[in-house]
Amino acid sequence: MGNKPWYKKERKPLIAQDNSIEIPPGLVETCKNCNERLYTKQLAENYWVCPKCDHHHRITSRNWLEILFDNSEFEVFDQGIYTTNPLKFYDSKNYVDRLDAARKKTQLDDACLNGIGKMNGHPVVVSALDFFFLGGSMGSVVGEKVTRAAEKSLKEKIPLVTVSCSGGARMQEGMFSLMQMAKTSHACGKLRRAGVPFISILADPSTAGVMASFASLGDIIIAEQNALIGFAGPRVIAQTIGGELPEGFQRANFCKEHGMVDIVLHRSQIPVILRRLISMFTESADQGTNHISV
Ligand SMILES: [Zn+2]
Repeated sequence: MGNKPWYKKERKPLIAQDNSIEIPPGLVETCKNCNERLYTKQLAENYWVCPKCDHHHRITSRNWLEILFDNSEFEVFDQGIYTTNPLKFYDSKNYVDRLDAARKKTQLDDACLNGIGKMNGHPVVVSALDFFFLGGSMGSVVGEKVTRAAEKSLKEKIPLVTVSCSGGARMQEGMFSLMQMAKTSHACGKLRRAGVPFISILADPSTAGVMASFASLGDIIIAEQNALIGFAGPRVIAQTIGGELPEGFQRANFCKEHGMVDIVLHRSQIPVILRRLISMFTESADQGTNHISV
């Protein structure tokens, strides 16, 4: 019995936990937060949010595009861009080998997927980072693809949406990664000057070089609930200031209270609100007004 109170009932799992039952691969997933076993289909229908504990599981860039566009229909563009590995970098592994493994795992060229499709019938460009490809880190390819997405928006005068899910700049490309911060920021500046709407969505995590560049430059910044948002990690900051950090530090709600984020949403609400915003921007531009409430 140990310290367990006698009156506590054993909770019945949604799916049998009996390991002797063979479950075909891909049918069931385990929640990373509460360990509940869930049907993959049920989890996917729930935007990959655990129905039991509400944990938002990280999703791929392709999942994001499917969630955001009308009827999950979109056209991918800017495929086939590969890094030249400018530093010929290796640490415990060769960078080229890390890239090969990530490409095999994700079926992506690099950690970013660009797509064009419609939201509420209005054409929109989406550039989504993919955490499953080397932590969604921004190297020369990711920076180039985000910039090209912004340039496509500018050329076609249609809104840009970026989805950040990244640990920051890609250390294997050193200064070439850091230069992407200036490049993507400059592209966002061009959108602003041309009056083309840019909405930035921050998934968990949105940190370091990505957050310090295009991700924080949206006309509207939407954060997924409980997403980690910031530059340096909390441990580094706590060591630097030599003190304790406030509760909820660098989480979505904390960032909203401190003015870094405009809206914090449950993942299921993001496509709903995004569509309203796109309609508001697009239709008000057509009518020359901006008096539609969100
Ligand atoms: Zn859960």
